[in-house]
Amino acid sequence: MRRYPAPPVVLGLPLPPPEPPPDCQHCARMMRERAQATAERDGSRVSDLNVLIARHHLPAASLRTAP
Ligand SMILES: [Zn+2]
Repeated sequence: MRRYPAPPVVLGLPLPPPEPPPDCQHCARMMRERAQATAERDGSRVSDLNVLIARHHLPAASLRTAP
């Protein structure tokens, strides 16, 4: 029986870029920084900014620790 190599291991799915509300100046600044980081191929910074942008508008309840 013929054997095939194992499929590649995928460590986590890339998250889609977060879409902040257009009226948030803080996110607008981070979006510009992200665009700059993307242009510089700084994937680590892009990822960091994506997390920061996504976290900025999480519902307050999800930021709380469990009671
Ligand atoms: Zn924001």
